[in-house]
Amino acid sequence: MWIFNSPKVVFGDDALEHLENIQGHRAFIVTDSNMVQFGFVKQVQQRLAVAHIESAVFAEVEPNPSLQTVLRAAAQMVEYQPDWIIGLGGGSAMDAAKAAWLMYENPDADPAAINPMDVYTLREKARLIAIPTTSGTGSEATWVTVLTDTELGMKLGLGTPELLPDLAIVDSTLTMGLPPRITADTGMDVLTHAIEAYTCTLRNDFADGLALKATELVFKYLPTAYATGSDAEARLRMHSASTIAGLAFGNAMLGLSHAMGHSMGAVLHVPHGRSVGLFLPYVMEFTANGGGTRYGEIAHFVHLPADDEEVGAAALVQAIRDLSAQVNFATSIKALGIERAAFDQALPKLVANAEADNQLFFNQRYAAKNDLARLFEYAYEGRSIDF
Ligand SMILES: [Zn+2]
Repeated sequence: MWIFNSPKVVFGDDALEHLENIQGHRAFIVTDSNMVQFGFVKQVQQRLAVAHIESAVFAEVEPNPSLQTVLRAAAQMVEYQPDWIIGLGGGSAMDAAKAAWLMYENPDADPAAINPMDVYTLREKARLIAIPTTSGTGSEATWVTVLTDTELGMKLGLGTPELLPDLAIVDSTLTMGLPPRITADTGMDVLTHAIEAYTCTLRNDFADGLALKATELVFKYLPTAYATGSDAEARLRMHSASTIAGLAFGNAMLGLSHAMGHSMGAVLHVPHGRSVGLFLPYVMEFTANGGGTRYGEIAHFVHLPADDEEVGAAALVQAIRDLSAQVNFATSIKALGIERAAFDQALPKLVANAEADNQLFFNQRYAAKNDLARLFEYAYEGRSIDF
């Protein structure tokens, strides 16, 4: 048995207006200081006011939110007693909102150990709205929350199905001002979600179509969103792609690019999308070598040569490298500006973290410790792995 989960999704360039129709009394907005500065928090509060909902703001979420940040937000929720929680921002803000909401309703829970096996009480006090302002993490469509244990220097991939937002508001006007660098990083994250969802061991018929569509949208619209950020069509389609890919991997899983990407993000402080997207072609070459993959089907769907699996996999890897070049996306760790000595010093930790990451287990080909070391090494130098 398997359950397909989805929030109610409101999308389009006027989606934010939907806030004027919700029922409730008090909303607690979890966000970061940029969202205040850009006026997005105000926009949300004005819409809520139309619905006669008062609101409070916690704008202290940092990139890679820590357990401490989550606990601080939850403590303020306890004081304010909201009946809506709103996560507004990129993945960090939405993930912090999810975990803080869980702590608000379950004060005795351990935020570092939120997992699908435990039973939590949710929706007795509040419901959750996620409003993404980047086209990347897909957190608005999943029950995952990625937090950072700052003491261990480690990212924690946590979650439980109850954490799925009730409502996702996918309004692309919030992404119009994103700088090209962030557009590229987050867009490559979307592509990685889609390809890993389609090829991981928990892939399924319900998620497959979503993964293929998201892949197609990224190939088609990311170059324009990157080069011409004011292109409303490209922004709208990339914002859709992000949520669609979130639904795909939220109902399947991911793979090795995310295990390695989470590790590099925590150890070498590389942004999430820049990290996972960098590893994607290497992981595909490694995984295709083990057989049993479906890269050829994806290649066929996006009109690349795909006579057989090997040809399709190679064509898809090349298309990803070409797309990376178009959006000036680094394709090696060295190209990120990380010195050889720093990399060598970090390597044991990079491997150990990736080995401990649960996404490792959903990759079609299992990567043992020596495989991981080899993959990181190839990715450092930018060397292709032979099929
Ligand atoms: Zn990701």
